[in-house]
Amino acid sequence: MSENTPFFIGDQGRPLAASFSRSALVHNARRAKQLIPPGGQVLGVIKADAYGHGLLDSAAILRGQVDGFAVLELGAARQLRQQGFDEPILMLEGFHSPAELNAFAALSLSTIIHRLDQIDTLVQANLPSPLPVFLKVNTGMNRLGIPLSEARSAYERLRALSQVSAVTVMTHFADADNARGTAWQLERLQNAWPEVMVCRTSFANSAALLNGPADRHVLGDVVRPGIMLYGASPWGSAVAGKTAVDLGLQPVMTLQSELIAIQDIQAGERVGYGGIFTADRPMRIGVVACGYADGYPRHATHQTPILVDGQRTTLTGRVSMDRLCCDVTHIPTASVGSEVILWGNGLPADAVADSAGTIAYELFCALAPRVPRVWLD
Ligand SMILES: *Cc1c(COP(=O)(O)O)cnc(C)c1O
Repeated sequence: MSENTPFFIGDQGRPLAASFSRSALVHNARRAKQLIPPGGQVLGVIKADAYGHGLLDSAAILRGQVDGFAVLELGAARQLRQQGFDEPILMLEGFHSPAELNAFAALSLSTIIHRLDQIDTLVQANLPSPLPVFLKVNTGMNRLGIPLSEARSAYERLRALSQVSAVTVMTHFADADNARGTAWQLERLQNAWPEVMVCRTSFANSAALLNGPADRHVLGDVVRPGIMLYGASPWGSAVAGKTAVDLGLQPVMTLQSELIAIQDIQAGERVGYGGIFTADRPMRIGVVACGYADGYPRHATHQTPILVDGQRTTLTGRVSMDRLCCDVTHIPTASVGSEVILWGNGLPADAVADSAGTIAYELFCALAPRVPRVWLD
């Protein structure tokens, strides 16, 4: 354990930890609030253990910054209620059985309805109290949602049910983070249902919210940002003007380790399993206490950036279960104990994800349980 990284908390002292910034999470939530239309609401998406950031800690920090939460795991919703979170909670995948619907009602959760037969389940349910429903309409994502042609009649049917306290019309965007955009899906919705905007609506994810404008016709009345709260960009790091920094977001998670060994190798020597990297000159190789069993992507390429002592370098050789290697030939200060940032402060997770053929969402969600976690500031 070295002085410059005082937060390594693993009980064996293995120098690997994920630290999380409270102030960054608050900052990003405020960014989301700034982007919504007047009278709009933000449901902070904290599914998948708050994208790997920790459900209850994240909810406690987001409390007061957002108007409610969205998850899809019943266990997560139950934990939130048990811990005294009485904000609205939207269940993003709806109920999977009549029993689960009863549990939703007992916990005062809002549910989405994404299949017509779920309305029949509601009709037959004997609920302790009516629940708010988000009617999810398929406008082109073709994943969840009732057909456009059924949307209006389903809405009227839900409104008439004693089991339902309020209905919000919801859709999810497939291309908010690329050139196709969101207008085509909203056009389909309005063509099929011209008066839809008299209803309360919920459309935007992070990408749509960050694209703007702050207009309820574009974003809906209730927005559902996830990734932006954690300080990564829905566009990754490659789109000019849309990196996390450009968007005014701050990274919440920093995955940090240390060099635990240095190898001086000759030209022609190979590094790691399978020898997929061969030195073309004498090199110094830094060995980092982090591998794919910690959540670092094994398919990361040799272009993947890493920070050693604050200097940018790249991955060398194949990522193994517990360790990865990097080139420290050009970093004279690099030695055992040198600080290594895998992503986070000073190194956007988006840049790492781009080089590993994935997105920051997956890096965050894959952070392994064995990595010690600590909240800072
Ligand atoms: C996960 C999810 C979101 C959040 O998406 P981000 O891209 O992380 O902002 C919003 N809506 C629904 C329905 C989701 O499943």
